[in-house]
Amino acid sequence: MSVSKSRLAVGVDIGGTNMSAIVLRVADGAILARKTIETRAAKGPDDGIRRLIELIEHVVADADVRWQAIEGIGVGCSGPLDLERGLIQNPFTLPTWDDLPIVDHLKSAFNKPTLLLNDAQAAALGEHQLGAGRGTRDMVYITVSTGIGGGLILNGQLYRGYQFMAGEIGHHSLNFEGPACYCGRRGCWEMYASGTAVAKIAQARTTPESQLWRLAHGQPEAITARMIGQAAQNGDPLSLAIFRELGMLLGVGISNLINIVAPEIFVLSGGVMQSHAFILPSIIETVWQQKYAAGTEHIRIVTGQLGLNAGVIGAAYAVMRFIDELL
Ligand SMILES: [Zn+2]
Repeated sequence: MSVSKSRLAVGVDIGGTNMSAIVLRVADGAILARKTIETRAAKGPDDGIRRLIELIEHVVADADVRWQAIEGIGVGCSGPLDLERGLIQNPFTLPTWDDLPIVDHLKSAFNKPTLLLNDAQAAALGEHQLGAGRGTRDMVYITVSTGIGGGLILNGQLYRGYQFMAGEIGHHSLNFEGPACYCGRRGCWEMYASGTAVAKIAQARTTPESQLWRLAHGQPEAITARMIGQAAQNGDPLSLAIFRELGMLLGVGISNLINIVAPEIFVLSGGVMQSHAFILPSIIETVWQQKYAAGTEHIRIVTGQLGLNAGVIGAAYAVMRFIDELL
């Protein structure tokens, strides 16, 4: 593989709320330009594709580089996706974009190698290349937000699995008789340990004495994971207890993953993990209590370092690896 200093790639991240794009210089991971716009999926796929193409043109112009120097475009997107055919199939957060052939659209607009991968896989690759997982061989990336997503780096490579389906760790079941999940299974990890799950617990348990009650203006059904984070910061006992329980439930799933994958590091990210100070200690305590194999104490459990940039950085690296036939 020849890595010249001038290698450049575009990385794109598409979520239900925002779309971001960067121009990445591969050799040192420098972001030469970055821009974020609203997704506005409800306006339909034609509008979305047109604005996405403009976003990419804009960011390349901002980076002040020649188009010819851009080797490829990597796109991380919230799933489900048909990664073999390059289609978005996400009626949950990208309604109206169903079956959108995003890879074909971008290829015909820019005539560059283009790769689609799911957003958690992209973020895993980003944290492994430039963030908390730098220099490690086996890493599990976990994003805890509305749901739980994940990505596996095994033997230094993004492990994508049969039909690129690997890493759906939020849908490993903790209880086969548990609550029904939208994926069709029961008792999935994200039914217990996601931002949505903790918000529901807080909605059920809050009392007028809790800070959550005030933050939600007396409407418990309006409580969000972000409010629990705010209240925990102010020492609210209910919120602190809910985060301790969340840490325990995350720890149970992480212990399962240790037994299956045995990575050297877990990198935790996502909106809920912004409150890591209140969650991480009980994760580590639970993993420690449930350790099965010797050596578990050497496994590191840390938070991500790249924040919102993990996905765009990983998408840019992914398309370069794809071009180099390493992915
Ligand atoms: Zn599920």
